[in-house]
Amino acid sequence: MADSSYDCVVIGSGPGGYVAAIRAAQLGMKTAVIERDKVGGRCLNYACIPAKAVLRSADLLSEVRDAGEFGLRVSGVEVDYAAIKARRDKVVSTLTSGVSGLFKKNKIEVIEGDGALGADGQVLVGDLAITAASVILATGSVPRAIPGVGFGGRVIGTEEAWALPELPGRLAVVGAGASGAEIASAYARLGSEVVLTEMVDRLLPTEDADISRLVERGLKRQGISVQTGTPLADVEASDSAVRFSHGDQSSEVDYLVICAGRAADVEGLGLEQAGIELEPNGLVKVDGALRTSRPGVYAIGDLVLGPALAHKASDEGIIAVEDIAGRETHPISYIDIPRATFCTPNVGSFGLTEDAARALGHDVVVGKVPYGAVGGGTVYGDRTGLVKVVGESRYGELLGGHIVGSRATELIQELVNVRALEGGFAEVARMIHGHPTLSEAVMESARAADGWLIHG
Ligand SMILES: Cc1cc2nc3c(=O)[nH]c(=O)nc-3n(C[C@H](O)[C@H](O)[C@H](O)COP(=O)(O)OP(=O)(O)OC[C@H]3O[C@@H](n4cnc5c(N)ncnc54)[C@H](O)[C@@H]3O)c2cc1C
Repeated sequence: MADSSYDCVVIGSGPGGYVAAIRAAQLGMKTAVIERDKVGGRCLNYACIPAKAVLRSADLLSEVRDAGEFGLRVSGVEVDYAAIKARRDKVVSTLTSGVSGLFKKNKIEVIEGDGALGADGQVLVGDLAITAASVILATGSVPRAIPGVGFGGRVIGTEEAWALPELPGRLAVVGAGASGAEIASAYARLGSEVVLTEMVDRLLPTEDADISRLVERGLKRQGISVQTGTPLADVEASDSAVRFSHGDQSSEVDYLVICAGRAADVEGLGLEQAGIELEPNGLVKVDGALRTSRPGVYAIGDLVLGPALAHKASDEGIIAVEDIAGRETHPISYIDIPRATFCTPNVGSFGLTEDAARALGHDVVVGKVPYGAVGGGTVYGDRTGLVKVVGESRYGELLGGHIVGSRATELIQELVNVRALEGGFAEVARMIHGHPTLSEAVMESARAADGWLIHG
């Protein structure tokens, strides 16, 4: 039985909770993590990590298929879905056992079970009542259904989509945000027939419109049937198939994947009895240091406002713990959090889209450069990628960065870092970049915004 008194108790061991726990232990707090399922949370076990492991197989397959262009004859390429699943599981277990190892190293106690807040300030796990000087709620989120279509059987959520028992012959994906685009792009390249439907009129609706256009082109090239501006209707699921209509068409698929966003996982957490206030949309209300309305109780990650992203959850965990420790903290600037979508073509972005920057009244300047403008794009075989810098003309501020193409999810970090260090596009334009690299397209895009594009 665990000792029942701690300086810091974290409920949930996802990227928010486990990072918070490690930071708390580093700062000398006696720390415990309560987890009802598996260490590493949904991110490591069911979401980010398995998704990227399967996508990596699809990416490698694309490269092998394009190998002829590079003078390599490859024949007899086959998809061994069972082996892809085995590698996915190995990647997950490597990373989750890494987290367990870090818990041990930092002397963090793991308590298995459902954690809840008691009315008297204690944390309850079954019959165990734990006294905690501070509590961090990090229970993440659960998938949201769409009106009239419940989950069950062959109507599945994103986590199930990355754990399908067999490679589906036909798959429909509803909702073309990051998760929908990733699922469609992976399975289409592995051999499934994929329909991707989106209610609004473009894919990745929160990304810059130029990026959405190139992603749509890329996904169509993978054979995906893309249906934008078409709500789903008449869903009928049987044991072997799901039938539905979209626009004036109807389809039958093996699985229907609903990617309609997430809702805070607060069920059974005892928030009401603990007097913790919620936002109107059901998220937990917090201030800039992630403090809830109850003193000593914090909430982080998918439970609170801001983009539902693992790295945002981790950063909030660090802010919350440092506040508990009495250190000076700063609220997250949500607009500066990098966003990554790992479909092919890859998408990395941060900050404002061009349309949003204009709508906010900024004096907008835009630099746009295709990867083909720099040597790296041609050498490495991606001339169609695009880097778009959105700036404010007066002081050269970087308002947003939008990249689509090979390694966009890595390349975006440069613009995020420069902005964090209070640099603008003029500074990026004058930084020396290695040659021949794709990052030269980032530099050229900044030069384009600054009015002196060299290659273009
Ligand atoms: C398919 C998919 C792919 C994604 N890909 C990415 C990506 O590539 N990059 C990215 O940044 N983000 C990605 N995300 C988002 C990311 O997974 C979340 O933002 C992140 O997991 C949030 O972390 P968290 O710590 O808040 O919660 P979670 O990772 O959800 O972990 C919460 C944990 O709390 C536990 N728990 C819940 N209630 C209790 C309770 N009462 N008692 C004890 N334990 C409890 C749960 O079992 C879970 O283990 C993806 C999401 C999905 C669904």
